[in-house]
Amino acid sequence: MNWLNNLASFSLNIGRWFGVPIYVHWTWFALVGVMACVSLSTFLMLLGIFAIILLHEFGHAFAMKRCGSLVQGVVIYPMGGVARGEIPSENEFTITVAGPLVNLFLVPFLYSLSVYGGASSGYFNDLQITNLSLLVFNLIPMYPLDGGRLLRSILAKHFTLYKATSIAFKVTCVCSCLLAVIGVMTMHLLLVVIAAFVYYSADQEMKYMERLSTDNVMGVIQDSHRLVHDIEERLQRIQENR
Ligand SMILES: [Zn+2]
Repeated sequence: MNWLNNLASFSLNIGRWFGVPIYVHWTWFALVGVMACVSLSTFLMLLGIFAIILLHEFGHAFAMKRCGSLVQGVVIYPMGGVARGEIPSENEFTITVAGPLVNLFLVPFLYSLSVYGGASSGYFNDLQITNLSLLVFNLIPMYPLDGGRLLRSILAKHFTLYKATSIAFKVTCVCSCLLAVIGVMTMHLLLVVIAAFVYYSADQEMKYMERLSTDNVMGVIQDSHRLVHDIEERLQRIQENR
């Protein structure tokens, strides 16, 4: 099933921007290709959303660079994007908040285009609604959305990273259940899919943190065993020398 994993993660490198490689997942090309055949307006809207997501992810990427972290690249999917790189917990708030700030800066820009854009006013107005929807949705405190990451980074200032992740995970469970219920009640099944995806991602992160924490505990136990063994050996040597 290796080919299935390769297919699931296949992204095309479309170039670099400020030294950061940009990858586009194959599902984005498939969606855009289908829409180009079906509806020109939806195709153009997808290109606009692509630009918004790209700018949002570059907000994260620039913040990573500013914090001295290594940026591996930006990946764009049909439903969002990811800026891959090092996110040390002490810089998680700065790196995370940079993405939604880009959406916020786009608000007056898209507003002026929707007012003074002439024949394209309607297009920019729709793009503005999409931008605002992405901004609000992304700030829901569900890990790994930016809202969930912000919540964890704020909690990590008062608790350990494990405890902060654990609280953020519980909040994610509540929010994703509510989102799924809203999706079923309003017959928006995409919301149910997003809720399931978010819950799965948060669950994976929680399991990773649990593994990390178990490894740390095991490491401390092994260190203390080694220390006790060393002390026993030294005591034995002292007794033998008497
Ligand atoms: Zn983001």
